[in-house]
Amino acid sequence: MRRSILALNAGSSSIKFALYDLVSSRDMQLVSRGTLDLGDKPTLRAKAADGTVQCDRPLTADKRRDAAIGEMLNWVQGEIGERNLICAGHRIVHGGSEFIEPVRLTPDIIDAIDKLTPLAPLHQPRSLAPVRAIAALQPDLPQVGCFDTAFHQTIDPLVRRFALPRQYEEQGLRRYGFHGLSYEYIAGRLSEISPIFAAKHTIVAHLGNGASLCALHGGKSIDTTMGFSALDGLVMGTRCGAIDPGVLLYFLLERGIAAEELQAMLYEKSGLLGVSGISGDMRTLEASNDPRAQEAMALFAFRAAREAAALANTMGGLECLVFTAGIGERSATIRKAICEKLTWLGVVLEDRANNTHAEILSRPESKVEVRVIATDEESVVARHSRMVMQA
Ligand code: ADP
Repeated sequence: MRRSILALNAGSSSIKFALYDLVSSRDMQLVSRGTLDLGDKPTLRAKAADGTVQCDRPLTADKRRDAAIGEMLNWVQGEIGERNLICAGHRIVHGGSEFIEPVRLTPDIIDAIDKLTPLAPLHQPRSLAPVRAIAALQPDLPQVGCFDTAFHQTIDPLVRRFALPRQYEEQGLRRYGFHGLSYEYIAGRLSEISPIFAAKHTIVAHLGNGASLCALHGGKSIDTTMGFSALDGLVMGTRCGAIDPGVLLYFLLERGIAAEELQAMLYEKSGLLGVSGISGDMRTLEASNDPRAQEAMALFAFRAAREAAALANTMGGLECLVFTAGIGERSATIRKAICEKLTWLGVVLEDRANNTHAEILSRPESKVEVRVIATDEESVVARHSRMVMQA
């Protein structure tokens, strides 16, 4: 009987999932890939590996996350047929200092991960929701957690330190970095398709609803723009990115804004949405003639280029720039705006390649090779889960 792994990647308003068959002692084969959309109209969509639509239907009236996850599991079980599902693997946003390897999710470990919720108040509960739902629905199915923070454990203590009184660092107040599963995937792909560049100084720009940059040297994380929380660094769909901490003090002390309200503002009402006043969705902004949409996009690109220059400085060089995730893979406008600001570092874009989303976007004379690589966090979750299960 074929053995399979279900990989889950829970985001703010959707859960991506992918089902893999273990085809040899090393290889896995994608069977289906889908999204459980938890927005206003909960929907379950799935496609087979060849792109054939397998499922595209609204979920029943019950909008609770658990119920929706249950429906997805039922659908997966129906598809599985003769397969034996050996585990469900999950992307978990925060592993703190403790979880630097993927782990089997026992009740004690789930509790320990839950204790990290104050470090990622909005994201951690979303990561744990499908874990808990599956534990309740299928208690015998082993589960594995794969941490977004783990890939950044190679970052030097100097780079991850805040200039705060020392005791706070010992209490976990330091930069962690996120999007690690995506960066791990890109580092792996780069070493397959361009081993020369994989050994050099690379910046990966993961530009989705959440956005960050990672400096890779020899495939290892050297620096990244997200820090203690997933708020730091770049302007994002609805998150502010790096901000003068004095602004927060001003809101709290002078404007009397409640801490929860401030949290909601920084995570959910800022970024592209806040600046444009229109949307946090890059496609919507690109389609808009409103000058505020243009201003939001310009700020997004400016800040990404500024942070990229800072990461190049941490590495002491830049030979390769990789764009990934929704905006990085599909927005020629944003890529061009960022690259133009990095001309002084030797980035020369080939417009035609950029406009057609080619694999290599830079001109031959560019000192920095610019690439697009589609990310695949689910495949990393599946690979790690298999390792943990020793399957
Ligand atoms: P998430 O971080 O939720 O996984 P994605 O990686 O899917 O998100 O990225 C979502 C972002 O990508 C949104 O801002 C969306 O507008 C943008 N995006 C997707 N397709 C395009 C496109 N063709 N052109 C410009 N932006 C796009």
